[in-house]
Amino acid sequence: MPLRRLHTRLLLAVSIPLILVSTTLLPVLHVHMETRLNSLSAEADALLKVGQEALTRDINESLNYALAIAEMPGLRRYLAAQSLTTLTDQQYSLSDLSQLSNFLTTLISHNARYTKLVLIDNQGREVLRAPRSNKTGARVSGNLHVNTDYFIEASKLLPRDLYISPPGRNLQFELFGRDVIPVVNVSTPVFDATGERRGVVLLSLNWDYLTDALRQAMLLDQNANMILVDAQGRWLLDEGIGSIDTASFGGNFAALSPLYWQAMQQRNEGNATIDNHLLRFQTEDIRTQRYRSLAGTIFSDNADHPWKLGVTLPRPTWLSLFKEETTVLWFLLLTYGVAVAFGIFWSISSQRQRELRQAAQRHAYEVSDLYENAPCGYHSIDKSGLVVKMNRTELAWLGYSAKEVIGHINYRELITPETREEFEKAFQNVKDNQSGSAECTLLTRNGEHRHVMIQGSAYTRNGRFVHSRAMVFDLTERKQLEEKLRAQAMTDPLTGVFNRRYLQAQAKIEMSRARRQNHPIALITIDIDHFKRINDEYGHDVGDDVLKNFTQIVSDLLRQEDLLCRVGGEEFAVLLPNTAIEQAQQVAERIRISIEQAPTTVEYEGTQQALKVTASLGVTPIHVREKSLKPALKRADIGLYKAKENGRNQVILHTL
Ligand code: GH3
Ligand code: MG
Ligand code: MG
Repeated sequence: MPLRRLHTRLLLAVSIPLILVSTTLLPVLHVHMETRLNSLSAEADALLKVGQEALTRDINESLNYALAIAEMPGLRRYLAAQSLTTLTDQQYSLSDLSQLSNFLTTLISHNARYTKLVLIDNQGREVLRAPRSNKTGARVSGNLHVNTDYFIEASKLLPRDLYISPPGRNLQFELFGRDVIPVVNVSTPVFDATGERRGVVLLSLNWDYLTDALRQAMLLDQNANMILVDAQGRWLLDEGIGSIDTASFGGNFAALSPLYWQAMQQRNEGNATIDNHLLRFQTEDIRTQRYRSLAGTIFSDNADHPWKLGVTLPRPTWLSLFKEETTVLWFLLLTYGVAVAFGIFWSISSQRQRELRQAAQRHAYEVSDLYENAPCGYHSIDKSGLVVKMNRTELAWLGYSAKEVIGHINYRELITPETREEFEKAFQNVKDNQSGSAECTLLTRNGEHRHVMIQGSAYTRNGRFVHSRAMVFDLTERKQLEEKLRAQAMTDPLTGVFNRRYLQAQAKIEMSRARRQNHPIALITIDIDHFKRINDEYGHDVGDDVLKNFTQIVSDLLRQEDLLCRVGGEEFAVLLPNTAIEQAQQVAERIRISIEQAPTTVEYEGTQQALKVTASLGVTPIHVREKSLKPALKRADIGLYKAKENGRNQVILHTL
């Protein structure tokens, strides 16, 4: 049970401080976390904004670039010249062509954003190409672009309108065998000075370059991941990023990262928390960028737009927060540690205190039990003798209750007037700071006496008497024992009559009294006849019964002052104070007759047997001059022997 209680205390000691500390610190940490989340959101916002500006800036510049090229007079003329059918009509010299192609090649080589610049005539034929990688300069290839989206769409456009193709790979017209990089084709119609449609300018933008610029802008934070998808959920970056595994360019983001896609589908812009990341996104439609450019209307594949631009940042977890803020962690651990250590210390020490308290209570109970139920009485009395304390044992002796005695009775009232003086003397000693004892007799409630020994000592404080303390020993038993021993020393254990020693002692007293008072005194000795036979015939036990029966018969015949004693096995003597010899003779005769006549019935082998018992007696007076009983005994015995000799069952007087 105490162990279980210790377990419970320990559990409480550990859990309560933990709960208290947690409830105090958790709101603080929560605010800390909130602040981190807010700053994370602000950071995501900033990154997205930077990214969006980088993307639109590059695209805007490219659109303006395409429009500027389409309006170059030399280029217009060249395209116009391509539509003439005869050589004579040709108004465009070879040196002009060389100039134009060098100019375009230089133009495109100076900006890594572009992969190629192509001029296409109204029939879809490639009439000039200025690729950035071709060191030989622009060339005329004759490729047919007639089925391409950028040619078909641009051929329908008005001046200053633009077509932007979805980002993709133009396998058909790129360098063979090499890695084909994704591009965005920007095309715009070319009109000559008369307003005649002369062809199309195609400017291919290096998509990797564009997105890399975007990435550079956005990845100011190393943990940030960028997202760019088209309206159909197609991944527009060259590789998957971080937690968003979308394979590679053109991968199906909607299928590979459905949670992100769903979140981005629901709104034009916003925040979401996915996979423990904060997603911040917005919708980006590059067709609406014309207000920042010289462009008319921008056309593109409707299914492709608008794009979604987003950024993800890992949300702080408690673990990451603690990793960053190790001081907070240590503080927290220290606080928990101290709280728990205090709790454990408290529970163990309170358990120990409890055990000590219980031990003290047990001890106090034992002491009190010992005091209350000791085999002797205990009490304390004040200076005036008033009882201030008394144990149960003494109360039981006196027959009072504690309420009746304590504070109400003066102890001297409990002592018999005869022994009171003895008590007062001893108590006076105790009041004088000594110890004292007295043998007194207590007076109980119902008037009985109890002989006791009182041993008192003073209880002092700072050397001054406070009260007396006393132990009270009951002497009643001792007295009884003494009485018993004295009686045992005087009496015969079998018959209960006095023994020879007592006879002799008592005879001395009676003889001197007789001398003083001049009274006669006589002695009778008795011997049971043929007692051996009884023993032999019926056994020793029956013999004992006969002896007891005999003493009973004789005792009944005697006066109070006569003394019957057993002086031998079946031999008795009777001292008769204040008795003349004639009377003694009569007594002896009465005894003889009673013994003879009184039925002596004994139990033998399960049946009652009546025995015939007789006795022979010798009688003699005790003379005044005699100092001891011896001569008288001798004389009486002589008489007794004579009686035996004469045939037993008779009394013989022998006086001299
Ligand atoms: P008598 O006196 O008539 O000559 O014959 P007796 O048989 O009585 O004489 P004796 O003195 O020879 O025998 C006494 C017997 O008493 C002997 C002894 O065994 C017996 N006796 C002595 N003390 C006790 C006793 O305390 N109890 C019993 N049962 N017998 C005892
Ligand atoms: Mg005998
Ligand atoms: Mg005998």
